[in-house]
Amino acid sequence: MKQYFSELYTGGKSLVEGLGVTMKALFQPIVTVQYPREEIDITPNYRGHIDLVLDPEKNTYLCISCGMCEKSCPSDCIKVNGEKMEGEKKKSLVLFELDFTKCSLCGTCVEVCPKDALEYSQEYNLAAFTKEAFHFDILKRLEERRI
Ligand code: SF4
Ligand code: SF4
Repeated sequence: MKQYFSELYTGGKSLVEGLGVTMKALFQPIVTVQYPREEIDITPNYRGHIDLVLDPEKNTYLCISCGMCEKSCPSDCIKVNGEKMEGEKKKSLVLFELDFTKCSLCGTCVEVCPKDALEYSQEYNLAAFTKEAFHFDILKRLEERRI
């Protein structure tokens, strides 16, 4: 009989404590959102895959096709190519591809770029069924952002 009341007391105490936690949480500010219907602003320091910086004044890339990022990437996931067009003194960027399946987001490419032509994207909800979907045409992405 004594044990019965002891267990009843322990169970009741636990129930009251549990309800206390629930009630406390009920009146706390909501910190989650109904993803994917709602999205929160991502922190500016977030590192998504790399992107070419768009020069807002010239409405084009800052990249000079030097290939430093390609050479310094420890995962060999960047392919850059520039060509000299007829009548032009400087090379034009004709290819900038990233194999994001191999990228470790180490940031070396961003750091070595002599023109600060690379930045991290804010992409955080990437999902796909194939590896090929993570082979990004970074130059094409920049073209789409051009005004
Ligand atoms: S290091 Fe910078 S300038 Fe050179 S190819 Fe890469 S992005 Fe372009
Ligand atoms: S962040 Fe690192 S691993 Fe990813 S592309 Fe740049 S250098 Fe390569």
